[in-house]
Amino acid sequence: MQTDVLVVGGGLSGLSLAHHLAQTGTDFLLVEAQDRLGGRILTQETGGAAFDLGPAWFWPGQLRMAQLVRRLGLEVFEQYSTGAIVFQDPLGHVQRDRGYSSMMGSLRVAGGMGALISGLQSGLAPSRLRLKTKVTSIEDTGNSICAKLESDAGVQTVTTRHVVLAVPPRIIADTITFTPELPQIAMRSMTQIPTWMAAQAKIVAIYDHPHWRNAGLSGDATSQKGPMVELHDASPAYGGPYALFGFVGYPAAMRAEHPDEILDLARQQLVAMFGPEMANPIFLHMQDWALNPAIATAADQVSPRSHPNYGLPSLLSNLWSGTLTLASTEVAQAFGGYMEGALEAAEAAGRRVQIRKAASIRRL
Ligand SMILES: Cc1cc2nc3c(=O)[nH]c(=O)nc-3n(C[C@H](O)[C@H](O)[C@H](O)COP(=O)(O)OP(=O)(O)OC[C@H]3O[C@@H](n4cnc5c(N)ncnc54)[C@H](O)[C@@H]3O)c2cc1C
Repeated sequence: MQTDVLVVGGGLSGLSLAHHLAQTGTDFLLVEAQDRLGGRILTQETGGAAFDLGPAWFWPGQLRMAQLVRRLGLEVFEQYSTGAIVFQDPLGHVQRDRGYSSMMGSLRVAGGMGALISGLQSGLAPSRLRLKTKVTSIEDTGNSICAKLESDAGVQTVTTRHVVLAVPPRIIADTITFTPELPQIAMRSMTQIPTWMAAQAKIVAIYDHPHWRNAGLSGDATSQKGPMVELHDASPAYGGPYALFGFVGYPAAMRAEHPDEILDLARQQLVAMFGPEMANPIFLHMQDWALNPAIATAADQVSPRSHPNYGLPSLLSNLWSGTLTLASTEVAQAFGGYMEGALEAAEAAGRRVQIRKAASIRRL
């Protein structure tokens, strides 16, 4: 099989690049290891509403995100922020009069962030997309690049001119073999770039009624006891069902061993913090990103202490004379880590693809 550009990874970056390639009439194939597109973007449908298990917000000033939601015709609404914040101390004591919402002004997308993924996907020919297909090795033969794709159907080789890796750098270094080998220093550089939020787990609790709003609470809360340490309202733009989500403060190893116990504790915590009506959610789920081998490596089981300084290190900017391009959010200069960064990285990769395409046409 042959294609001009092989896009590896069907998260927001890979899909946004695929959209650009389709629009510019560039021949491409996008391969995604998992059985769904979206990568770290994942939206759960329950009771006719959408709940984000991955990213939930973008912010004013993130112009690519604003443009994408406009182009896809999606509605944007502000994070619910009316009411007081709840605080729980290490002993479980609760205070319910702690000022106002910390996420006021953050923007959400009606239908959840998954609507970005389905919107982008619907503009692409299905023949350009391969799910459950993992790139395991890439070889520069001198005349072209050959990538091995592994799927249930077996192993297939794709010959291409340009590979864009819209995959977190640590995953690339851990799971893809390169021939000839990439310089050690480049591989080491990739392993040193933490995958943003890969260490996190999010618990979502969905209810028929917004008990916290009825009690004058915004749903914003912090806890020094856990298991959830930071909570927010996650309800849809209009009507119910209603939801809260919380980031889990327990280490990834403990979460992997005791998921059911953690959900039980989360239920007790919701009751302690917001009241007895919280005892019976219609849906309670923990989405643990650290357990996903297509997103998190062993090094990602612990979160970085602060937002890393992302961007494309110069060591990684001209691999195989520019025929191998990195494009996950982690290589974005301005908004690395965020969805805006995924779009920024895709935009930069698109420019590189067009430059190489123009150069090869000139050579003909
Ligand atoms: C819990 C959580 C909360 C977050 N909150 C926010 C938020 O509120 N706002 C915000 O802006 N950002 C947030 N983020 C970050 C945001 O999700 C990311 O910035 C963005 O989704 C990254 O997109 P990407 O395409 O760069 O990478 P990814 O989404 O990681 O996509 C990479 C894709 O590559 C695939 N892949 C990996 N290896 C291979 C292979 N060998 N072959 C083929 N495919 C492969 C993976 O399966 C994956 O689909 C959050 C993330 C998490 C996990």
